[in-house]
Amino acid sequence: MMKKLIAGNWKMNGSLAANDKLLKDILAGLSQASCQVAVGVPAVYLAQCQALLASTEIDLASQDISAHEGGAYTGEISGAMLKEFGVRFAIVGHSERRQYHGETDEVVAVKAQRALGCGITPIVCVGETLTEREAGQTGEVVKRQLAAVIHTNGHCISEVVVAYEPVWAIGTGKTATPEMAQQVHAVLRAQLKAASEHADRIKLLYGGSMNAANAASLLAQPDIDGGLIGGAALKAQDFLTIIAAAA
Ligand code: PEP
Repeated sequence: MMKKLIAGNWKMNGSLAANDKLLKDILAGLSQASCQVAVGVPAVYLAQCQALLASTEIDLASQDISAHEGGAYTGEISGAMLKEFGVRFAIVGHSERRQYHGETDEVVAVKAQRALGCGITPIVCVGETLTEREAGQTGEVVKRQLAAVIHTNGHCISEVVVAYEPVWAIGTGKTATPEMAQQVHAVLRAQLKAASEHADRIKLLYGGSMNAANAASLLAQPDIDGGLIGGAALKAQDFLTIIAAAA
C-alpha cells in the first residue's frame, strides 16, 4: 500500500519565533512517522525552515511557484529558486490563489509543469464552490480543473499529487463527510486512470477543515491517500494527531 501524505499549508501565518516553536514541537512528537509529512511555509521562511528540517523526516513545501522560468516577473519565485531551498512539494492552484489572484486552470497547469521540470512535486488543488455543489456541478468542475493539468503534463501526470479541496470546506469548519469526499476522489481517480496507467500511485489528498477529530474517518476511505491541512497544521498536537491517523 502506498504511504499516505500529510501536508500542512500554513498560508500567511507564522513568524521566526512561531515557526521555530511549531517545528520543534512537531519534531519532538514525531515518532518514526509511517506516512510522508510536509509543511508548506511562506516563501520568506523557506531558509529558516530548511535549516530546522535538515535531516528530519519532514519535507518542505512552497505555497506557490511561478508559471515562468525566470526574468522580468517582479515578486515571482521560480521553481529553480525553490529547489535551491530544498523544496520538495509545491502547492499549486490553491482555491485562495484561484480566487484572489485570478489563477486560471491553464495557469495552474503550467505551474504544475514548471514544478515537475525542476524536480518538485506539485500538489494540484481542485474543488468546487458551494454554488457549484448546489447546482450539481461538482464532478464537472473538478474534472475540468484536472483535465487542464492532464492536458499540459501528458504522461508526467503520474508524478503529481492531487488535492480535492471543496472551497466551502476550507477554513470554515465545515468538512465534507468521508462519503462525500470519497465520491469525488473516485471521480478523480477514474479520470487519472483514463490518462495514465500509473494512476494507482498518484496520491489524492483531501483538504477542507480536516482536523484531529475527523482525520481518521476521512483517511480510511479507499481513495483518500492523505490530507492537505490548513488551520490544524498550525497546532503541533493537532497536526501530530492527524499524522498518527494516517499511519
Ligand atoms: C487549506 O488551506 O488547504 C485548508 C484545507 O485549510 P483548512 O484546513 O483550514 O480548511
